Amino acid sequence: QASGRTSRLYIGGITRGLSIVIVDDIRLLKGLEKRLRFYVDDFKFYDLREVALEQELTNIDRDREVIKMLKLGALPEDIVKRREELVKTVLFVVESPNKARTIASFFGRPSVRDYGVLKVYEVNIGKMHLLITASGGHVFDLVEDELSQDSIYGVEKRNYGGITWFVPRYDFIKRCLNCGTQFVKGDKCPICGFSNFKSSKDVVEALQRLAVEVDEVIIATDPDAEGEKIGYDIAVALAPYAKSIKRAEFHEVTRRAILTAFENLRDINAQLVKAQLARRIEDRWLGFALSEYVTKRYAKVSGREKLDKRYSAGRVQTPVLGKIIELALAKIRTLRKSKVVKVGALTFEIPEEVIEKYNLKKVKQKRIDIVFKPVKSYTDSLYPPPPFTTDEMLSEAQRVLLISSVEAMRIAQELFELGFITYHRTDSTRISSAGIGIAKEYLTKVFGDEVGHYFTPRTWGEGGAHEAIRPTRAIDATELRELIAEGIIEVPIRLTPQHLKLYDLIFRRFMASQMRPATIERVLYDVEIVYRVENTYICLWKGNLDIVVNIIEPGFILIYSPIQVVALPKHEVIVKPSNIRTAEISDVKLPSQGDIIKWMKMVEIGRPSTYAKIIETIQKRRYVYAIGKKVQYLIPSITGILIYMLLVGNRFPDEEEERYDLLHIVEKYLNKYSFIAGDVDALQLVKTIETVLSGASKDAEVIASMVSVSRTTELLKKMEQIESGEADYREIIEDLLREMCKNILPLVHSHDVVSSACL
Ligand SMILES: [Zn+2]
Repeated sequence: QASGRTSRLYIGGITRGLSIVIVDDIRLLKGLEKRLRFYVDDFKFYDLREVALEQELTNIDRDREVIKMLKLGALPEDIVKRREELVKTVLFVVESPNKARTIASFFGRPSVRDYGVLKVYEVNIGKMHLLITASGGHVFDLVEDELSQDSIYGVEKRNYGGITWFVPRYDFIKRCLNCGTQFVKGDKCPICGFSNFKSSKDVVEALQRLAVEVDEVIIATDPDAEGEKIGYDIAVALAPYAKSIKRAEFHEVTRRAILTAFENLRDINAQLVKAQLARRIEDRWLGFALSEYVTKRYAKVSGREKLDKRYSAGRVQTPVLGKIIELALAKIRTLRKSKVVKVGALTFEIPEEVIEKYNLKKVKQKRIDIVFKPVKSYTDSLYPPPPFTTDEMLSEAQRVLLISSVEAMRIAQELFELGFITYHRTDSTRISSAGIGIAKEYLTKVFGDEVGHYFTPRTWGEGGAHEAIRPTRAIDATELRELIAEGIIEVPIRLTPQHLKLYDLIFRRFMASQMRPATIERVLYDVEIVYRVENTYICLWKGNLDIVVNIIEPGFILIYSPIQVVALPKHEVIVKPSNIRTAEISDVKLPSQGDIIKWMKMVEIGRPSTYAKIIETIQKRRYVYAIGKKVQYLIPSITGILIYMLLVGNRFPDEEEERYDLLHIVEKYLNKYSFIAGDVDALQLVKTIETVLSGASKDAEVIASMVSVSRTTELLKKMEQIESGEADYREIIEDLLREMCKNILPLVHSHDVVSSACL
């Protein structure tokens, strides 16, 4: 039962309104409040006795007087005074259609219209009439020019006042309607030759026409350097048409975050854009030059005039490929045959030598005893891990949920755009006060009066706008699924079980980070694996094992458990193995996508926005394959190995002191994974590799130094210095060109071309 005065929209904003709800079932009211809070974060019902009703009614009547006057054609003095802040029309540009729709849904039911190729959502938020639309990602990219006198792979070099300036030539991005390839130059798909394509020109033109209609353009692309670059491109394209262009930055798609962003509008950050330009130019220059080099060498060593396709390489891509090859070959080198004894979650390895030493022909499972003797027992505190950064999220998604990094990144992107999690490309573990508030709200819901015992707020870092990946509301995965099923939350895409699983993982990890530590009991055991032969015992394995046997006080483990408890008694026990098998084992593990991402983070050759992309690229190019039924491991293909060897020759592996017979190991590797040859002639390729290795030249040394981990790390740091204003964009690009001119360009181009392109 409700009654009151409705709010009305007028030129000065929204009139004050009042709703009175008569309640006879408080649970229904709470349910309604909860649902409304999904759209209006700070929604709250007040008890009528707490409201200064007289004052409210006076305010309401005053607003109504204004409306009456407006209807009569008069302009109240108050409105004349506030002319500046009267309702503005604003074009609000994001990159993804999902994000546009989610934002529109926070402000009532939007009206939708098609505007050229754009879908535009119109909503009113009181002081602003918003036209929300999406650019669909990047609109401009570097032209694919060859190296020539005028252009260094799409970047013009000009001389003014004795200084060399670089002018990257950007143009509309086209997408082939046949094969999906993106290209910039020409009007035919460079891959399939199809001439029907979608061009970002249509997007830009529609945005330009919209920009003329509005008072202000607000660009709200993602809050990182890449988002800044997209925003900059849109701003440049709209500048001649718009009265005013501003940038809004928010790290979560919620009503509160967006309203806060409106209060803190800023200009495009030129430093972020410059850093992104430098990254793009560097990526293009080295990528194109290495690709020309490797394709040319491949043709030469295989005795062919020309190859039918180009092979790719790159500053980050190539060291990552090298790491995957290094691990795969190291595993092959160190494989040994062993017996693996399993008992519950524990596994033991018994080397083949031991079996041979005692001349055991067939090891029988029932003759094995595993003896656990407790040495000491102690209690220990276990602290929750920090909330997710990008690399940690990807690695856990793979380990726990068996979701590949590329897939996890796509899902996280959608969860972000739908407003369920904070920005998923982040290096920060920091939690804002809003985040801590969400933890408190949820834990109160779960633990009631005992919340004080479990809730231990932690910020996990200082300052800055960036935050860890966390949920944006105190709604767990179960409740989220219910709200969607009931139609209370409407989502523009179909949420799969994978979406909910990843959300659940992010949610639990975050909640755990705001909870008290657990107290656990550990026992250090002397463990011996013995084998009964007639009346004697043979010791197959002996060692120490520290095992968590009990949880004394669960704390955060109630919500997120990073450990496994093995419920062994605290006295001596003899246990039978649950399984025994013969296997080839190595201490070197093949890496999963998550492992490679962790490595990239450790040696600092990737960023949250590129981790998954790099791996996707080398998988798409079939330089590496993912194998394995559950967790997928990355192994190099024979083409991948060849391309890598063509670049760095026998200067491999990167950091290994001791050289080994590379070709021999590669052959062994091929025998083990014969399918990795794919559709190419593996034997032919091995022969080619042999030629490459025997003829390894000084060139390889030069290239190896360019694509080494240390050089890549150094360059990425420089790009960050451009972002922070400590390094000059032009100077760094000039240095890059010098490096190219000294090292690689002379290997692929004629003296004339090189001398005209170089400084
Ligand atoms: Zn095509």
